[in-house]
Amino acid sequence: MENLLIEHGLKATKGRMEVLRALQTATVPQSAEDLIEHIDSKVVSASSVYRILSELEHAGVVNKTVRQNAIATYDLTHNHQHFILCSHCGKMIPTDHCPIESFEKEVARKTGFKVTGHMVELVGICPNCQQALADQSRSHLCT
Ligand SMILES: [Zn+2]
Ligand SMILES: [Zn+2]
Repeated sequence: MENLLIEHGLKATKGRMEVLRALQTATVPQSAEDLIEHIDSKVVSASSVYRILSELEHAGVVNKTVRQNAIATYDLTHNHQHFILCSHCGKMIPTDHCPIESFEKEVARKTGFKVTGHMVELVGICPNCQQALADQSRSHLCT
């Protein structure tokens, strides 16, 4: 973690290390609010989390993604992963592989671009929400 900061030209401060630790332990991208719940508030105050996230983003250590539910989330740049997002409750689940790599190569070959990244996000309704929606429509029928 410390090296990750130094490689990107940042000093390894306690606050940055704490934010990275919280990102590393999470299995899905975290919003600033999620991170604030998971960091040690004695090490980093809630207000510095926003500042640290933008420093890390500018240095290329973390990726900021504005999700389809308009919430900005952060994940470590070197963790390449895709997610499916529940449009109903905002829950995110990682998918187990990246389906894009061969497509990337093909596009690079056809366009002459050097492809540096991609974003893929699946959206749907999670099993819990499907159940809740089904229950809801059933109770409407009864009344
Ligand atoms: Zn859901
Ligand atoms: Zn991918």
